[in-house]
Amino acid sequence: MNSITLKNPFDMHLHLREGEILKAVLPFSAQSFSGGVIMPNLKTPVTTSQLAQSYREEIASLAPDFLALMTIYVTDFLDKESLQDLSEVGIKILKLYPKGATTNSDSGVSSILNPNLLEILKVAQDLGMILSIHGESDGFSMDREYEFLKVFENLAKRFPKLHIVLEHMSDHRSIKVLENFENITATLTYHHITMDLDSLLGKNLNPHYFCKPILKTPYDKEALLDLALNAHKKVSFGSDSAPHLISNKYSQNAFGGIFSAPNLLPRLVELFERHNKLENLQAFVSDNAITNYKIKVKKDKFITLKKSPSKIPDSIPVLDSKIIPLFGGSDLMWQELV
Ligand SMILES: [Zn+2]
Repeated sequence: MNSITLKNPFDMHLHLREGEILKAVLPFSAQSFSGGVIMPNLKTPVTTSQLAQSYREEIASLAPDFLALMTIYVTDFLDKESLQDLSEVGIKILKLYPKGATTNSDSGVSSILNPNLLEILKVAQDLGMILSIHGESDGFSMDREYEFLKVFENLAKRFPKLHIVLEHMSDHRSIKVLENFENITATLTYHHITMDLDSLLGKNLNPHYFCKPILKTPYDKEALLDLALNAHKKVSFGSDSAPHLISNKYSQNAFGGIFSAPNLLPRLVELFERHNKLENLQAFVSDNAITNYKIKVKKDKFITLKKSPSKIPDSIPVLDSKIIPLFGGSDLMWQELV
């Protein structure tokens, strides 16, 4: 096959940041995707309807056709009265970070199963909202997602009608939980289905491959890749593209986050083609998300990719500095027609 057309691709886990970084990174997602789930861990976390609406407006002023599905950062101070207001303005995704689990997550909840939060989740369930979770314990890095699975099981049983999303699944042991509970779905990144821990530190340490949850074993990678290639109904693509200025990557305190937004679709086409699964790509990057999140697409977007060499940019200039994309400077076999 020499060309492929994808209808309404969605990126169901996306960090766009704010201000100048937003301006620099948003065009990559807006060019390729109809929309995406926008993560709320800004410097001032998006914790209220007002903050989410002004962030949505900031995004819309730069990319009017991009459907930004906003999320609200769950803190210990979220009250159930505000959930009603959120659903009235079309914000229906709550994002839960355990305190300190990743970039700007210091406002996260200190104890997931506290009575206040459980009451909020009950209201969220009644309103048909979605609970999206960065599920990691504070244990050993390679076991954090696994150790957190019991929280997913607990919540899924307690709130059987609440749609719960296991974000950026990275551990093969999570697949059983995904399959056991009807109300749990998951997102998969490009990096967790194509790379393992050795990509990060098998040779020299590569800070651009450092992310949370951390890349895991080859076995995990293969098991998750298999879900993606077969477009498992409960799995959607969510890049978790997370840009950081180079100074925050090359420091003693390197931030976790992989900036994968540039050229995501050409890379996914290459990957699915290599495994003879191109026919499943449409479901993985769009159909599953539209069904599972009940997305109402206002205007269809078609992206055609053609087999023709292209290159990932070396770096993206921003704020007198730069951001390095995943595989910056490397060649691709496909390109998007714009
Ligand atoms: Zn993320």
